[in-house]
Amino acid sequence: MISDAMQQAISEQINLELFSAYTYLAMAEFCEANNLVGAAAWLRAQAKEELEHAMKFYDHVLDRGGRVRLAAVQAPRSDYGSLLQVFEAALAHEQQVSAAIHQLYERASAEKDYAALPLLQWFLDEQVEEERTVGEIVAQVKMVGESSTSLYFIDRHLGKRAES
Ligand code: MG
Repeated sequence: MISDAMQQAISEQINLELFSAYTYLAMAEFCEANNLVGAAAWLRAQAKEELEHAMKFYDHVLDRGGRVRLAAVQAPRSDYGSLLQVFEAALAHEQQVSAAIHQLYERASAEKDYAALPLLQWFLDEQVEEERTVGEIVAQVKMVGESSTSLYFIDRHLGKRAES
């Protein structure tokens, strides 16, 4: 049986994952409105992944006989000054999510909740991957700059990643 404190902590993480999905969806909307369809496709795919993250936690709590407490999801930021700002915000967001997973891991370890640890390890690995991927995009956008030619090519590049 999962403890009440863990049910609550994971419910809060589910809220953060849903907020992540909402954040990426708002970023996709911003990009699509600015004709960056490749980046928008990448961000839409990311939003879907965040929903899957929320469901992984949701299933974990229910599989162990706990209850999930769904709370209101905060409205995401909807305006950005540039594509670089979008991905810089995404990186900052992923760093915040990583910190939250670390806290969950610490709580599960302190409680000796061994059933939660493999799931949280999966999320730790996932966060390493997310930060690396988004960090690379930030570096690439900085490298090529944001002239309209550069944006055209980086947008196409991002669109290709979303297809694979
Ligand atoms: Mg996530």
